[in-house]
Amino acid sequence: MPIQRLQTKVTLTYVVLTVVTVTSLAILAGIATKRYLVDREVDELEERITALAELLPTETDQTLAALYRSVVRFARATGLRITLIDSAGTVLIDSDVPIDHTSSIENHLSRPEVQDAVRGRIGVATRRSATVHGELLYVARRMRLAGATGVLAGVRVVRVSAHLTDVDSMAAKEQLAIILSGVVVLAVVIAVSVVLSRRIARPMVTIADAVERIRAGELDIHITVRGNDEVARVARAVNEMVDKLKADIVRLKKLERVRTEFFGNVSHELRTPIFSLQGFLETLMEGAVDDPQVNRTFLKKAYEHSVRLNSLLEDLMTISHIESGEMKMSFRYFDLYEVLTPLMEEYRTSAERNNVTLRLVPSASDAVEVLGDRERLRVVFENLLENAIKYNRPDGEVSVSYTLQDGFVRIAVADTGVGIAAEHLPRIFERFYRVDKNRSREVGGTGLGLAIAKHIVEAHGSTLHVESTPGKGSTFWFTLRS
Ligand code: ADP
Repeated sequence: MPIQRLQTKVTLTYVVLTVVTVTSLAILAGIATKRYLVDREVDELEERITALAELLPTETDQTLAALYRSVVRFARATGLRITLIDSAGTVLIDSDVPIDHTSSIENHLSRPEVQDAVRGRIGVATRRSATVHGELLYVARRMRLAGATGVLAGVRVVRVSAHLTDVDSMAAKEQLAIILSGVVVLAVVIAVSVVLSRRIARPMVTIADAVERIRAGELDIHITVRGNDEVARVARAVNEMVDKLKADIVRLKKLERVRTEFFGNVSHELRTPIFSLQGFLETLMEGAVDDPQVNRTFLKKAYEHSVRLNSLLEDLMTISHIESGEMKMSFRYFDLYEVLTPLMEEYRTSAERNNVTLRLVPSASDAVEVLGDRERLRVVFENLLENAIKYNRPDGEVSVSYTLQDGFVRIAVADTGVGIAAEHLPRIFERFYRVDKNRSREVGGTGLGLAIAKHIVEAHGSTLHVESTPGKGSTFWFTLRS
């Protein structure tokens, strides 16, 4: 399809409209002029015929030849053709036909103006005459010659006619004037519409160009919008669309990067325990199994790696469960003390092994009810407790506390451990992020604990906070509805 330019379309529309308007004006003006002139001539002929109808009877000495002469004289003086007709339609006198030829004129009864006149009305008709060239106007009326005898007593109708040729040429002149002024108007219309249509089309062209560039993949586009009309709205919408598209692309790219990174991390994390496991088992198979000095140590190490592999897989499953949005929470009120006490007991052995003292600091009333998913929150406490023990110093302390604060319970797990430097704080909740990789691995960390804890706390409409002083210790805390 050839490109249709908006500007051309608008200009053409104006031009066609103007041509149609001027043409119809010219036609209407022609018709109106002609009608006006004909009406005027009809009026004039009517006046003449009235004068004639009054004059003729007095002019004549009632002989046919004398009347004919009067009629011809009258016709010459007025420039009209005059016809006298009897009630049967027979022409008795015609100013354009010699008196001795009158009988050859055909009967006039069927002529509409004669019909009207016979019935007592003024008859008017325009026709092309077969005898005389051009259009003729006929006006007829009833007339009697008082006191006439013979044929003249039969005169019933007098008819006058005149050429209409002038009317046509005058109408044509009128039309020509209109057409000429139409041409001038048309020139003005073309000039104005070219300017106007360019102004209308230009912003549309800008938008079309921009959209084509967007389709080609170019996104650094901003259409300058002026005004507040429909075109400006389209331009604004295109700008917003591009901005949104750009934002979506950035988000998608980030998501893709995060995903790839995650898979890279997962395979890396899995590889270490698997390789170690394989290594120990191979050494054992190659003979170490028979060496009582090493076989137990190797088996124990192999077992530890399989345990690590297992906890890694468990954490991975939990996190993918959470992130796919499949994890459904079930909120109930439960007693914090009832959950925390046995949990602390569970961790006592591992704390002792690390020379760390565990303390539960309950609030004034022991029974504090919180609203939450008990099982998921237990996972949060486990992860925080584990970290507090793992990253502590010998003879350190871990204290779990909860305090009531206007409708909320603030739960904190504080340790006296290595602490976290400020630059790491914003990142420790990321998956697989560790401040000290070796230490985390040594103590059996997966790098997923805090990420899981953060998700679960957030699913409770809360936030997991951390405050830490390197060398002194860290406090992880969050609030729950009470
Ligand atoms: P990990 O399994 O490695 O412990 P987490 O997600 O639980 O993974 O924690 C991420 C990192 O945050 C840890 O590797 C550690 O460096 C740091 N971290 C977490 N808790 C503490 C803490 N109580 N004291 C010091 N560092 C901590």
